Amino acid sequence: MSFDTLGLSAELLRAIGEQGYSEPTPIQRQAIPAILQGKDVMGGAQTGTGKTAGFTLPLLQRLSINPINNGRRPIRALVVTPTRELAAQVGNSVATYGRHLPLTSAVVFGGVKINPQIAKLRLGVDILVATPGRLLDHAGQKTVDLSKVEFLVLDEADRMLDMGFIHDIRKILALLPGNEARQNLLFSATFSNEIKQLADRLLNRPELIEVARRNATVEQIEQVVHPVDKHRKREMLSHMIGSRNWRQVLVFTRTKHGANRLAQQLEKDGLSATAIHGNKSQGARTRALAEFKSGKVRVLVATDIAARGLDIDQLPHVVNFEMSSVPEDYVHRIGRTGRAGNEGQAISLVCIDEHKLLRDIEGLLKREIPKVVLEGYEPDPRIQAEPIQTGRNGRGRSQSRKQSSGGSRRSGSSAKKSVAARHPSRSDRSGKKHSPQKPAHRQVRRKPRNSQASSQHRRPPSGPGRERAALLGGGFWDE
Ligand code: AMP
Repeated sequence: MSFDTLGLSAELLRAIGEQGYSEPTPIQRQAIPAILQGKDVMGGAQTGTGKTAGFTLPLLQRLSINPINNGRRPIRALVVTPTRELAAQVGNSVATYGRHLPLTSAVVFGGVKINPQIAKLRLGVDILVATPGRLLDHAGQKTVDLSKVEFLVLDEADRMLDMGFIHDIRKILALLPGNEARQNLLFSATFSNEIKQLADRLLNRPELIEVARRNATVEQIEQVVHPVDKHRKREMLSHMIGSRNWRQVLVFTRTKHGANRLAQQLEKDGLSATAIHGNKSQGARTRALAEFKSGKVRVLVATDIAARGLDIDQLPHVVNFEMSSVPEDYVHRIGRTGRAGNEGQAISLVCIDEHKLLRDIEGLLKREIPKVVLEGYEPDPRIQAEPIQTGRNGRGRSQSRKQSSGGSRRSGSSAKKSVAARHPSRSDRSGKKHSPQKPAHRQVRRKPRNSQASSQHRRPPSGPGRERAALLGGGFWDE
């Protein structure tokens, strides 16, 4: 099937051709005609499926049918995304697919100066892509007028709720014309009760679109675990990158400090590397990503939060330098590769401390990941498991008992929470917190081990990660 049959205009088909897309992805096949017909859509799809073009192309077409050329252009389409990176990516897509149309667009997110955004908005834009916090900042300063919005897209709605944006979303909805006056599109990887409530409130007789679950493509991700001692991981990673001549590899660490340190060590090993995490300024994050995408930097070392929503075309290799404390994050991580039908490789370097985490991940996946011991890196059987270090102070957050087969390990998610508690802001507005934060030590102590309630605040107690995994038939989604 080609794009020609979907009813898109010549200008859009030209832009699609320039992108080199030969045929629409499943979500595009379903979403484009429905949106062109003016229907509300509830889409079950994740990043990596071609969803952005799925909503952007028909949106651009509908806007271009009735262009507003006289007077100041009102904002006619609003796309809200949970993260800055995703906003930037969607903004790029809007600009790319709309390059032959007389429409204007802007992207606003926090962490960068507001004045250039104000200047751009003042010129009048047809399509605004925004993260919730900064959008409300603009609304508060009356530098944005949302009263003429005809199209609303909530992208990755489940993540927005996970990140505590529900109140911001409600405030944004209150600034828009009534539901009936708009076409509403909601995309989400999962459909928790909260999402359903939001959808009920927002969507008018929506067309439900669900595309092939991500585990259909996950076959294209080759997963392997290399058992290795902790102190030899860095050497092994450098060796693998060098000897296998990897040109672009995304590496995950558990902590920001660990990401910085590893990037520096890799640099010393002669591999161009940079770190991306929440303590870096937006400018540094954007630069790191751009350098990585362009091939200037070979290794991007990232923490889980920073990597969410990153869309890097045809990323061939993902390495878990440290296993995540939260099993669901493994699935997010490896979903960075094997995108849009490309093959990918996800390699996990697992030391004895992480065996329990690995078992949890395999439990979530409902399958074992093949283990391959690399020659010269055989784990030393004399080394005993130690509690995993998660914090800046380098202390393990676990109970200090020795690991046994009975599993005297900490709750991984408690540990993660402690990190989140010390660096609580996941907002796009600097300094804004989305949930009441307590001192880390109190939170960790109070939470029962392995309790769902001990999850990080961006995960509601119902455990959406597990729900996602179940929904996706054994667990592959990405963000
Ligand atoms: P998305 O899910 O929107 O983040 O898209 C994931 C990736 O797929 C992006 O890098 C797009 O450029 C790419 N993509 C989108 N549509 C197509 C298509 N029809 N054919 C090939 N690649 C596509």
